[in-house]
This record gives sequence, C-alpha cells and structure tokens, in this order.
Amino acid sequence: MAIDLLRGRLRRGEISARELVEQYIRRIEEVDPSIKAFLTVTSDRALAEADQIDNSLAAGESLPPLAGVPIAIKDNLCTKGISTTCSSKMLENFVAPYESTVTERLWKAGAVLLGKTNLDEFAMGSSTETSAFGPTSNPWDLSKVPGGSSGGSAAAVASGECMVALGSDTGGSIRQPASFCGVVGLKPTYGRVSRWGLVAFASSLDQVGPFATSVADAAEVLQVIAGADPRDSTCLKAPVPDYCASLDQPINGLKVGLIKECFDQKGLSSEVTASVMAAATQLEELGAELVEISCPRFNDGIATYYVIAPSEASSNLARFDGVKYGYRSEGSDNLIDMTSKSRAEGFGNEVQRRILIGTYALSAGYVDAYYKKAQQVRSLIRRDFDNAFKKVDVLLTPTAPTTAFAAGSHADDPLAMYLSDLLTIPANLAGLPSISLPCGFDGGGLPIGVQLITNVLEESRLLQVAHQYEKASDVMAKHPKGSCIP
Ligand code: GLN
Repeated sequence: MAIDLLRGRLRRGEISARELVEQYIRRIEEVDPSIKAFLTVTSDRALAEADQIDNSLAAGESLPPLAGVPIAIKDNLCTKGISTTCSSKMLENFVAPYESTVTERLWKAGAVLLGKTNLDEFAMGSSTETSAFGPTSNPWDLSKVPGGSSGGSAAAVASGECMVALGSDTGGSIRQPASFCGVVGLKPTYGRVSRWGLVAFASSLDQVGPFATSVADAAEVLQVIAGADPRDSTCLKAPVPDYCASLDQPINGLKVGLIKECFDQKGLSSEVTASVMAAATQLEELGAELVEISCPRFNDGIATYYVIAPSEASSNLARFDGVKYGYRSEGSDNLIDMTSKSRAEGFGNEVQRRILIGTYALSAGYVDAYYKKAQQVRSLIRRDFDNAFKKVDVLLTPTAPTTAFAAGSHADDPLAMYLSDLLTIPANLAGLPSISLPCGFDGGGLPIGVQLITNVLEESRLLQVAHQYEKASDVMAKHPKGSCIP
C-alpha cells in the first residue's frame, strides 16, 4: 500500500495502525525464516506505537506525515536502546545509547519501527554475504543474493515485510540491492541527509536514503529525513523543497543523457542493456530528448573508490580497539596484544582486507601515489559530470551490470564482487543524487534496474523523471510482491 493511500484509509477509519502493524508482523513471521532480512524485530514497540497513533486518531488529532508507516532500518543506523550491530561480531552486543538524526526524524513523523535489517559487515560488500550473522536471500529467488550492502532493507521491502526502509549508500549499497530486488532505491546528494548516528564507513561518500515500492513513497521518506543538522557539519543547509509537488509535472523537453562509457562494458549483460534502452525509449515517448554523453573517466570510478573508501574506512574503524566499546578479546596481558586480537577476532575478512588496503594507501611513502592520485581522479570524474550537466538534465545508465547473482558465486573473487558497483560508484565520488528503479526482468524472472542521476540537490527533478517513467511503464504493476516466496 502507498503512503498516501494509507493516510486516507487511517483517517477514514478503514484500517487502524495496529491492524496494519499486525499484518506486517505476521508477514515477517511467515517469510523471514527463509529471507532473513531482519536481525532484530521490534514487534512490541511497533504495536505500542501503533496504539498511540490510533489513540491520537480517536482523539481527533491531526496525524504527522508518516503516521503508521511500518519501516525497517539498516542495522548501521543507531537506534537508542536497540541493538545496532553493523552485522559485525565487533558490535554484536552493542546497544546504541543515542538515536541517529534520520531515525529521530522518522519517529517524529509517526513512522513505526518494525526492526533492524541485515547488511554486509560495516556496509562493505555487494551481496549481504559478509554479514557475521549469515546472508539474506533474494525474495525473487532464494538461491540468489539480494545485493548489498543494504540487502536486508531491499529484501524486506521487496517481500512485503515492511512498507519502506532505510539503507546507506557509499558506493551503491542502496541502488544495487534495489535493482537486484526490484524496488526503488534513492541515494540523495552527499550532505542532503544527516549522517549523525550512521556508523561511518567512508565519510566523504556515505549517504542515507530510502527503499520503497514506488517513487512517490521514496519522495515522502526523503521529505522527512532531508535537511540541515547542526550535529553533522557536512549536512547541507539548503532548504528542502516539496519533493512530491513536482512528481506529476510532465518531462517533455527534458534532455536525458546516455553515458556512452557505461554501455561499453564487457561485463554488461545484454538483457540488462536491452531493458535499460527500452526505459530510455519510454522516456523519449514521454517527450524527453535522448542525447549520447561521454564521461571519459566514468570507468575509473571503481579503482578510485577502492583507494578512497578503504582509506577512510581504515581511519573510521580505528575506534574499534577493544577498549572503549565493542568486542574485546579476553586473556591478553598487554594492551597491544588485546587490541590486535580484538580486531582480528571481531572483524571479518572483508573488513580486515579494507583496513589493510586503506592503511597501506595512507602510509608515508604511498599516500601521494595512491590516496592523493585517487583524489585527483575523483575531481576529474566530477568534472565529467559537470560538463555532462551543461548539456543534459538527467543521466541514465543501468544500475548494475547484471541481475542478482547466485549466492556464493563471488565468495572467492573480491574483484568480481567489486565490479557489481561499477555503475553506481561515480555518483558517490561526485556527491550526486541518484535513484534506481525497476525497468524489467531477465529471462529467469529476476528484476533489472535503471539508474538515473541528476546534478547536486536536484532530487526533485530526479524523482519527477523516475515517477513519470514508473507511471508509464508497467514494470511495477507486474511486480508480484512476495509471490515468489515459497
Ligand atoms: N559494494 C561497495 C563496497 O563494498 C559499496 C558499499 C556501500 O555502498 N556501502 O564498498
């Protein structure tokens, strides 16, 4: 059900907030044993909050914008009094002592927390398989990965276990799982949404954003979480426009750029290309003009990212030392031994690999060759986008080179795993807003996603184009939410 429909039905008394929450809890009980999207389910809290909403309704009070909307939150966002694990043994017993800004805003807006969702450990991965608590399955085919790192949130929305969810996106972790699971996933402009209370992975890239079953619902959630936050100095002070207001505006005359370099990839599946090109044609039929655009440095994004992101991660993760909080290895008789054992036992392989790469890239003697060089290439990638946006209003690419891959298939090949973010990473490096939405299915019935990118702070236009496409295409209507679940 869409958020605006729910609003009407609650007001007219056709459904109560409690009934809705009960439905979702039942759905979680039914399907989550096979999907494993949730690490924690907060049923009691959800029911108590739903009752409060029903009481306000009965008292004739007006409801906040997301009243009664059942939401799941990626388990790297701090939720006060509730376990926040980052899917890591390091934080297995960590209960957040404070609330992240985004979740605080959601609760004020009346959203109801259903639980915390699985992710790749510390959001490092593209399949949700690096979680210390076991993988999540793709609701369309349980033998496939849901994508990552926000695979739990994407799978929860796709399987109808929640109405909307939050994820975080450092190099594609909202858009790639949205694409694999056939839902909408939005990464806002860097700084549009506060990162306060998001456990940091790579601070110059991380951004929180919504998963939803429609563009309009994603806009509704963004409306609530966006905007300045004095607790995050990188959070932009720009006023937050009304994101829903522009959704219905037609897109005739808009210029849509197809990034040539994206379609030249060796690993790009022909089914993905065909489906994404059909989406482009659909936009043309809606009155947009298609323009071929060159972003010569686009494909350097992945190499650049795998220097910058691990460098920032190695610094951010230094705080997990076994002393202040998190996992501590017992039995050492000195500090250095205790710290190194705590980190070796508390972090999984992928996290350790990133810390090693990042520490190396930042070390004296290498910092100019790797980190500084990567920052320079990052500027060139940004410049390509600046030039592109002189010619077009929105860019269009596939979200991922393939559809969801088989669980375990990339386990011993980190490079193959890294390549699945090839098309999403450049928007993070340039700080641009970007959305993935379903545009078709492959021969095996797995969803395909199309990615749209606009210039900084142009979320309204991004959502407008996405919404117009969604309305014209029948892909979302075909979405058999959860019907593939045994
Ligand atoms: N898959 C990418 C990585 O492993 C992106 C992760 C993310 O966006 N959090 O770094």
